[in-house]
Amino acid sequence: MDFIALPKIELHAHLTGSISRQTLHEVWLTKKAAGQTDLEDPLAVIPEGKHDYNLITFFPLFSKYIYALLTDEPSIRHATTAVLQSFLQDGVVYLELRTTPRPTPHLSAAQYVDILLSTISEFEELHPQLHTRLILSVDRRHDFDMASSVLDLAINTSPEGIISARKHAMIVGLDLCGDPSARPAGEISLFTPVFQKARAAGLGLTLHFAEIQASASKAELETLLSWGPRRLGHVIWEDAETKKEIARRKDELCLELCLSCNVHAGMVEGGFESHHFGEWRRVEGVKVSLATDDVGIFGSPLSNEYRLAAQHFHLDNRQICALARESIDFIFGGEEEKERLRRIMWDDHTTAL
Ligand SMILES: [Zn+2]
Repeated sequence: MDFIALPKIELHAHLTGSISRQTLHEVWLTKKAAGQTDLEDPLAVIPEGKHDYNLITFFPLFSKYIYALLTDEPSIRHATTAVLQSFLQDGVVYLELRTTPRPTPHLSAAQYVDILLSTISEFEELHPQLHTRLILSVDRRHDFDMASSVLDLAINTSPEGIISARKHAMIVGLDLCGDPSARPAGEISLFTPVFQKARAAGLGLTLHFAEIQASASKAELETLLSWGPRRLGHVIWEDAETKKEIARRKDELCLELCLSCNVHAGMVEGGFESHHFGEWRRVEGVKVSLATDDVGIFGSPLSNEYRLAAQHFHLDNRQICALARESIDFIFGGEEEKERLRRIMWDDHTTAL
């Protein structure tokens, strides 16, 4: 099978983690020439071919380095366009990108979001085969006010009034992400009013759950499920009770599973064959969406994730096509978009198979 030609849906991709080292290098070169940065070359900080970032080394890459590089409109536009281009070239037809709105020395959080929306709009006019929507992320380390301000950006026009209604319709969801060791033992319930309000406002909810054991407690699962999420990301530490609870909600929930990210980061043991994708495949009716998480860091595009799934879990062409179509009903982009995907995504009868 041609895994690049296979039309694919990507639902779990962090914008800044999806930026390639080469693109970061280009941004750095421009800033260096203009005397605007003292940072080291990205190709030295994140060498090509290095993908074994774990949960200790992963988050500082962003807080100390990548965010410090992407501070103004030209750098954010350049990086975002390059990310969209790489998903397009990899055969992705529908993409939900997620990002934590953050102010920079030059931009407010609202301006940051507005730059993303206009970059996405312009890209889509040139490349209508890829439809992209935006999810705003609440970080586990946020306090309540910060989380509320993320929600405000998602459901209101910005204070500057620069987000047009058309662009605003492109923000389709709210995510819970960030260092999974933050706010353990049910403390995450701090955000309950924010996510409840988001859901009431019609946003789709997707929540990182059980990336590590500390964020896999029963209390945490109960809290997250009480918010009414449509999707859960990672779901690595599945004990029997968790599995039963999720299986019981198989018609309401889709799991976003990331093979390379979990294996390279050492979040699962035993390599690809032991990835919990295999476990979840055996639970009748539970829907799965393969995703890259951070292709810029872990280096495996979505086509390769499908290739890995086929290879390590012995899926034939028919099963791969069914897997790719499995998340259509769980996108946040609306009914019209679901219809488009049902039309264009491959099934048993597709000759290109
Ligand atoms: Zn993620």
